[in-house]
Amino acid sequence: LLPILLHSYLYRQSGAKELATFVLIGPSGAGKTSLLTLFANGATTTTHTSQVPQTAQCQLPLTTRASEDRYRSENDDSARTQPQFHVLDTPGHGKLRHHALSALTDTTKPLKGIVYVVDSAELSSTAGLTEAAEYLHEILLVLQKRHTQGKTAKGPQGVAVLIAANKQDVFTSLPAGIVKTKLEEEMAKVRLTKSKGLLDSGVGSEDDAGADEESNWLGEYGARTFTFAQMEEHGIEVSVVGGNVLPDETGKTVTDDWWAWVGDNL
Ligand code: GDP
Repeated sequence: LLPILLHSYLYRQSGAKELATFVLIGPSGAGKTSLLTLFANGATTTTHTSQVPQTAQCQLPLTTRASEDRYRSENDDSARTQPQFHVLDTPGHGKLRHHALSALTDTTKPLKGIVYVVDSAELSSTAGLTEAAEYLHEILLVLQKRHTQGKTAKGPQGVAVLIAANKQDVFTSLPAGIVKTKLEEEMAKVRLTKSKGLLDSGVGSEDDAGADEESNWLGEYGARTFTFAQMEEHGIEVSVVGGNVLPDETGKTVTDDWWAWVGDNL
């Protein structure tokens, strides 16, 4: 009986506070659903194409330290419950992306971070790179606006973004450092194209167009190059970290650094 009582007590304790939420976003086929399964079960199973967002309740593995645990003494051996959190998977298909976008502005859940999953082998093709950069541009712009609007309302809301450079086990995949620079370069192009579109539309007076252009410009206004560091001013901390959800030929999955990022941002 005791374990049951203890379990329900702990359950109620954890339920008292709304669990931190992380949202999985990215192009179709990048590995989001596989990652959700891993976060939820610690192992992958076959996935199906998701049409609607799925949520899983997950727990940090014992090997990963949560940020709140960092200052614990090595000698402190009082029971430690690993924190739990929610992970929301969103469909990557173009027509279903509104699910992801609305998850970012849903103020009922404590959004702690976004995991933007990319297939690191796909990024060496122009089409793959463009798709990944356009979608990421859209997501970061929503987060930037959320931060700007938060300044006037409930205070700015910062958020962490992990770009999970997945499928590092695939021979043709690009390493995380290259994934970062390729995405930054491509996003500078996307940003320029979008701002030209706004100017060409010629709506409103010139002043209106100027203000509109500035609020729709991602990162440092007017800058020629785009870097993820430009997002810090908007409370958005971007990290690019490589890994593979599926085991490589030696049977190894590489996800420890992603778990560590979750632990740091809980
Ligand atoms: P989603 O559309 O982003 O949810 O992607 P899925 O999770 O459905 O994965 C798409 C395909 O990529 C599936 O066939 C997965 O088995 C495969 N996949 C996912 N992660 C990896 C990985 O790390 N390495 C390799 N080689 N394949 C992966």
